[in-house]
Amino acid sequence: MSRTPLIAGNWKMNGLLSDGTTLAKAVALGAKGAACDILICPPATLLAPIKEALAGTTVHLGAQDCHWQASGAHTGDISAQMLVDIGCSHVILGHSERRADHGETDNQVALKAAAAHNAGLMALICVGETEAQRDAGDTMSVISAQLDGSVPDSATSENTVIAYEPVWAIGTGRTPTAQEANQVHAHIRAHLRGRLGTEGIADLRILYGGSMKPGNAVDLLAQPDIDGGLIGGAALKAEDFLGIVAAAVS
Ligand code: PEP
Repeated sequence: MSRTPLIAGNWKMNGLLSDGTTLAKAVALGAKGAACDILICPPATLLAPIKEALAGTTVHLGAQDCHWQASGAHTGDISAQMLVDIGCSHVILGHSERRADHGETDNQVALKAAAAHNAGLMALICVGETEAQRDAGDTMSVISAQLDGSVPDSATSENTVIAYEPVWAIGTGRTPTAQEANQVHAHIRAHLRGRLGTEGIADLRILYGGSMKPGNAVDLLAQPDIDGGLIGGAALKAEDFLGIVAAAVS
């Protein structure tokens, strides 16, 4: 089995041309020789210049969303083919902020993921429970339902990564314990194996996201079912992001 850790930075709606390209270059320089895969997902406006800034490095480029149609009358949207065209290899889908801010449904996320697969992109599909759902003891059933609705049948280890992001941990400085997070990751793996079979997703990577920092990354990334991190706030400072990269390989 081989699940190379993946450390992915979700810059969200942050970064202008100058500071964004400077940050990308600093990450690429500091991550030289890292034993994990590294992905940067800047806002769409920075995809082209950051592709250029990352030329000749091993850092991957990803977007934060795509539409499920290839083209057409969808003002403001971007298709999976357009992302490939500009040099992306990955796309984040179903982030809780898109589900909350844009009313994205599980079914739409599954359509987007299938479109990403068809275009040759790695779909990074996010799931996670709210605090109320956690308090009600519903975490595992909520996650199972999100996986059933958001992960298309075309998912394999080669075209899909799952990110477990408890909504209550995103941007709050709070996290589950590493053991609690690992239990959810193990549940995600078992649930998807039950549905999709073991062969196609034998090496499926499951990232943890939600207030991961250099200080808690070592514990989280040491867990057997945690295969990397999806990083928000800490991805905006090269030093913090690289601290997490270092934890992934230690
Ligand atoms: C995220 O939004 O994907 C995320 C994990 O954010 P943060 O690291 O800031 O909690």
